[in-house]
Amino acid sequence: MLFDTHAHYDDEKFDADRGELLAKMRAAGVGLIVDPASDIASAKKAQAIAREYDFVLFAAGVHPHEAAGAAEAYLEELRALAADPKCVAVGEIGLDYHYDFSPRDVQRRVYGEQLRLARELDKPVIVHEREAVADNLDILKAHPGVRGVIHCYSGSWETAKILLDMGFYLGFTGVVTFKNARRVLEVVEKMPLERMVIETDSPYMAPVPHRGERNSSLFVHLVAEKIAEIRGMSAGDVARVTWENGKRLFDLS
Ligand SMILES: [Zn+2]
Repeated sequence: MLFDTHAHYDDEKFDADRGELLAKMRAAGVGLIVDPASDIASAKKAQAIAREYDFVLFAAGVHPHEAAGAAEAYLEELRALAADPKCVAVGEIGLDYHYDFSPRDVQRRVYGEQLRLARELDKPVIVHEREAVADNLDILKAHPGVRGVIHCYSGSWETAKILLDMGFYLGFTGVVTFKNARRVLEVVEKMPLERMVIETDSPYMAPVPHRGERNSSLFVHLVAEKIAEIRGMSAGDVARVTWENGKRLFDLS
């Protein structure tokens, strides 16, 4: 079975056919999905989906894009959501200096507050980082004891080594199938297999040959197949190992 560790089924792009789509997952070999939130409203929607489907779990957090809009009491709201047994992580959280939808100082403050919350709750984090490598490493180093995954990893092998040394898992999306993926494939090739998880980041990041389409967990096997090709293993073995890794990452028995 495949574990899609990052798919936004709370996104409105799934409103028209969410139930129909999720009903196809088991038969397609997708056995577990984590739906990470982008803000409090999206966390509540992800929670409702997780309550309806036993194979869907969710994470509660405020994405850097939404950091400036976080209400005064957002940490209290996250604490309440995290008490749900289906809430497996604080996420997604982090820094995005590509879009800068929230001022950078606000992004850093909200990220730090949520890292401290994760440590307090003893939950893993799901980290989003774009064009903010140095600040991300600084903030993570300032919060020892925080564990989790760097999602949609597309950075260098040098940065990957630092994150792996800190104990983080790395999540890989359909980006590994893109033509310009040489840098990320170096990481896929060299990193320890036991720290690798797979994801779709649906509805975004659809792998080749579906690039540009709405993505879903039905395409996560394409990520496993590309990794299998790079590592010289069978896709079944990649599925099995990343399934176990995902369960360890999110404390699932
Ligand atoms: Zn995401």
